[in-house]
Amino acid sequence: MECLKGEKEEVKCVWVQGPIIVGAGPSGLAVAASLSRHGVPYVILERSHCITSLWQHRTYDRLKLHLPKHFCHLPFMPFPSHFPKYPSKNHFISYLHSYASRFNIRPRFNQSVLSAQYHPSSQLWLLTTHHFQYVSPWLVVATGENADPVIPSIPGLHLFRGPVIHTSLYKSGSHYANQRVLVVGCGNSGMEVSLDLCRHNAFPHMVARNTVHVLPREMFGFSTFGVAMALLKWLPIKLVDKLMLVVARLMLGDTARYGVRRPKTGPMELKLITGKTPVLDVGQVAQIRSGNIKVMEGVKEITRNGAKFMDGQEKDFSAIILATGYRSNVPTWLKNCECFTKEGMPKTPFPMSWKGENGLYTVGFTGRGLLGTASDAVKIAEDIADQWMNVKDKLYRNSHIILLKST
Ligand SMILES: Cc1cc2nc3c(=O)[nH]c(=O)nc-3n(C[C@H](O)[C@H](O)[C@H](O)COP(=O)(O)OP(=O)(O)OC[C@H]3O[C@@H](n4cnc5c(N)ncnc54)[C@H](O)[C@@H]3O)c2cc1C
Repeated sequence: MECLKGEKEEVKCVWVQGPIIVGAGPSGLAVAASLSRHGVPYVILERSHCITSLWQHRTYDRLKLHLPKHFCHLPFMPFPSHFPKYPSKNHFISYLHSYASRFNIRPRFNQSVLSAQYHPSSQLWLLTTHHFQYVSPWLVVATGENADPVIPSIPGLHLFRGPVIHTSLYKSGSHYANQRVLVVGCGNSGMEVSLDLCRHNAFPHMVARNTVHVLPREMFGFSTFGVAMALLKWLPIKLVDKLMLVVARLMLGDTARYGVRRPKTGPMELKLITGKTPVLDVGQVAQIRSGNIKVMEGVKEITRNGAKFMDGQEKDFSAIILATGYRSNVPTWLKNCECFTKEGMPKTPFPMSWKGENGLYTVGFTGRGLLGTASDAVKIAEDIADQWMNVKDKLYRNSHIILLKST
């Protein structure tokens, strides 16, 4: 395996002590903290200039964790007791800063990994960024299920004369007061952005082309997710889904009457099969029922001033917000690797998705949010720590390359 040569034939090759972690979001931080508990050094490469860039720069102001805090903390450090049950985005960011500082995690920023490839002859991973090549026997993929926004191709979108943004750029409805706004998508982001628009006196029209399960965030004072988890210990998933849907109907009414149709498969089973998360209601359904959020069928085409819909309606809009989700970017940089699907998700399903072949690990790709991250991170660190003790002396005798001392 050969590293890149710089202008003066200087080898810009960095031999990393311990594993390379790609991504300094919650998952990368969780692995880093878990490794340091075992005394294993590591290097984190992060494309942006800060930790947890998704939460710091690509989320809206009103965002709160969807699940209660005890389901969302990273390993070895619960949320502070004074945090509310559902921490806000700012609470979560401040928690992650404290986490990084407590475990002395110092990523290398502005290091966008352009390619990573395993070299069987040397049994090493070679990662390329704009200015360096990094080498290690272990690669931990922590770039997230939400690395890049999905921008759909809607006929006529380029003709629209108003602003068109993805929810990753949406901050608050304060810019849209008294405006009619088209929100494309009815997942958690689409619903919450529509609610935020309402609260800022805008007139959101939300496109619900697909079916979606909306559940109350809490049932009988307990988090719906917690109730489902408890029931699943005793009851088959189909029965749990039936119970969830009966309670949801009692609390929210028949959402299909307002244009939000439910999938045929129940919410927990759907989550298990496809990873698709049910929408948790934090007030959206009341706004839909009262007509403040208008639910529209699929968009046929966007026009200069608005949109034509599948049901024949045509309306003018001042702005369009694409709540069309995110995708993993792994296929763009992880080369010749059979263990990811073309959508960038591990082929091996949960709970074994964390471990690939040849020293490859993945964290945060379980479709289970922060809960999945925490359990993946601990297992990965244990697995690498076992190997680290056996190989560390043998591996780091090289002298012609830069040895990057990690934290
Ligand atoms: C609006 C929104 C709300 C959410 N709410 C919740 C919630 O309430 N509860 C929950 O559990 N989950 C929630 N999620 C899911 C969320 O993705 C996870 O909670 C969490 O951010 C996942 O952490 P991660 O580290 O796996 O991924 P990310 O937070 O996406 O971090 C990945 C990091 O990798 C970096 N990166 C990507 N590509 C490269 C590259 N090629 N080279 C170097 N660095 C790279 C990115 O810059 C980023 O910093 C939400 C997601 C969104 C979008």
